[in-house]
Amino acid sequence: MRKNIIAANWKMYKNLAEANDFFTFLIEKLPKTKAEILIAPSFTSLWHAFETTREYPVEIIAQNMHQEEQGAFTGEISAAMLKSVGIQRVILGHSERREYFGETDATLKAKVETALKNDMKIIFCIGEKLEQRKANTHFELVQHQLQNALFQLDKNDWQHIVLAYEPVWAIGTGETASPEQAQEMHQFIRKTIANYYDLETANGISILYGGSVKPTNAQALFSQPDIDGGLVGGASLDVDSFIELIKAI
Ligand code: PEP
Repeated sequence: MRKNIIAANWKMYKNLAEANDFFTFLIEKLPKTKAEILIAPSFTSLWHAFETTREYPVEIIAQNMHQEEQGAFTGEISAAMLKSVGIQRVILGHSERREYFGETDATLKAKVETALKNDMKIIFCIGEKLEQRKANTHFELVQHQLQNALFQLDKNDWQHIVLAYEPVWAIGTGETASPEQAQEMHQFIRKTIANYYDLETANGISILYGGSVKPTNAQALFSQPDIDGGLVGGASLDVDSFIELIKAI
């Protein structure tokens, strides 16, 4: 079912003590909301974060996982390992994973299948680079990302998927897609899913916007009809700023 979601992606920021400070303050000041609050700390803070927040309406999620169930993959983390510390959801397809770690649509398709096989939910990221937007191929690119990694799924699998449209040119740059640009793409994504599956599936999916979301622009973005919340990097690291984002949804 379509839900409003505010999700924090901490990337490679915050050690255990810093994460602990954040959660202590957040729990104390947590605003009441109908939206789901998701936070993705680094792997080393996952267990502590899960234990600290387990009685509160905050879900701790992972930033990544490997596509194999187990094996000789030094430095990697499996779905079962995440589940063993209470994690039920993982971000897949983030542009930084695609760009710096060589994750292709084929890798991501395999990761999606492994996550679902392990009963995990997914936030799946899609979005174009600046040159693709300038060349007016951004709709085509996003359609291919969806087709190549997700359109093998059964209709029922989509209840475990949240999409995040993150134009790469707006991530960590301070440059935000305008609410109209974001809405236009979110509407296109929903239409693409409706065409391939059906309207019920398309309307049931939460589609988050990500790319330099901050308290000053959040409300304008989140009030668009096809934007169901945000996946936030930089502005989620400061607890006061994150609380403002929760209030904006
Ligand atoms: C992200 O990491 O997914 C992101 C959107 O980052 P930022 O909010 O810093 O642009």
